[in-house]
Amino acid sequence: MLTREQAEKLDRNDPIGGMRDRFYINNGELYMDGNSLGLMSKDAKEYIDTSLEDWKKLGIRGWMEADQNWFYMAERLSKCQAPLMGAKPEEITIHSSTTLNLHLLLATFYKPVGQRRKILVDSLNFPTDIYAVRSFLEQAGLDPEDHMVFVSSEDGLTLSEDNIVSNLSEEVALVLLPGVLYRSGQLLDMKTLVKAAHACGAYIGLDLSHSAGAVEHNLHEWGVDFAFWCNYKYFNGGPGAAASLFVHEMHLKNGPALAGWFGYRKDKQFNLALNFEASTTASAWEVGTPHILSMAGLMGAFKQFETCGMAALREKSILLTQSLIELIDERLGVYDFSVGSPRNPEKRGGHVALVHKEAARINEAMKEAGIIPDYREPNIIRLAPVPLYTRFVDVVDLVDRIEKIMETGAHLKFENKRGVVA
Ligand SMILES: *Cc1c(COP(=O)(O)O)cnc(C)c1O
Repeated sequence: MLTREQAEKLDRNDPIGGMRDRFYINNGELYMDGNSLGLMSKDAKEYIDTSLEDWKKLGIRGWMEADQNWFYMAERLSKCQAPLMGAKPEEITIHSSTTLNLHLLLATFYKPVGQRRKILVDSLNFPTDIYAVRSFLEQAGLDPEDHMVFVSSEDGLTLSEDNIVSNLSEEVALVLLPGVLYRSGQLLDMKTLVKAAHACGAYIGLDLSHSAGAVEHNLHEWGVDFAFWCNYKYFNGGPGAAASLFVHEMHLKNGPALAGWFGYRKDKQFNLALNFEASTTASAWEVGTPHILSMAGLMGAFKQFETCGMAALREKSILLTQSLIELIDERLGVYDFSVGSPRNPEKRGGHVALVHKEAARINEAMKEAGIIPDYREPNIIRLAPVPLYTRFVDVVDLVDRIEKIMETGAHLKFENKRGVVA
């Protein structure tokens, strides 16, 4: 179990510990919600400030004349993010929102033929994906009940890869799974699942919202058909930052099902011709004018990842979550807390799920005690010790504060019920 002295020593010797100084962190606050919204960094802010200045000074000329010109901003960002995701730069673009990108990718990759018409999803998936798939099928005139296969979970927290594979059949056209489950933090074996989906003859798409920026990916090498993720969680791009989508090189030539003028070949886009000539990269999936102010910060954010390296970030993240789990076991078990995340670090993403039947009111007491966690129905408090800006002593402080809440009963004055935005 991690002691304060050991934690201080780990912090002193942390090769990426200096990155914390690049972030805006409220004094005394333990920010454990980087898996929902990453903190603002000075680097991200500098790029956003520059874009605002460019708009102020250049107006329309900012598209080409700004140092950080707007017209090619998505390309520059893709180039920076690609190595962080194990992708080629031409396979990624920065565009729109996560859910809308899923709609665009469903339109491209859902190709029902003969018997093969079903979309395989999991019952623990983030609901927006399920809403998207259902509505997508309905507008295509297909009954979601007949066209979706739900993989179930035995414990309500995790999925078994074997169970996912056993649900594959010649009826499955498309598999849609998360990289890391948003509640328990389980990291799925993406490489194996891609192989299995392809062996069965289905396409596979991954929602990487909870794994992007938290764990290492090899999207190109694994042969993932498509993927999408948000950039405001571990990637710290800012609230509602433009999202990312990945289309494997092997599919780029087929182009998007739903087109718009920003998916046109960039060199000829302003010919404004009425025939659509798709870009030969993932930028073909872009639709309309890019959200420059919601993209600019990502350049600063990605540069931090580049400086640290995904491997070092993941290594520190595992040490942080492992220390947290051990402290929970040792010191919070007596208060009926349990750990809802996989204990094997290779099966775990960047956050830890703390399970308690009074989680909603304990979550409120934690906020009162200067902790920023988040609560997920019905009994989970998620804690993300993000390696870019969390110290080992923060993990010790976190457990100290939770222990004190339970000792003093500070949570009892709150109702055991969640707020509107949890
Ligand atoms: C956060 C998250 C989303 C968010 O979708 P938006 O369109 O950005 O709101 C989608 N899927 C998963 C798994 C997430 O964790």
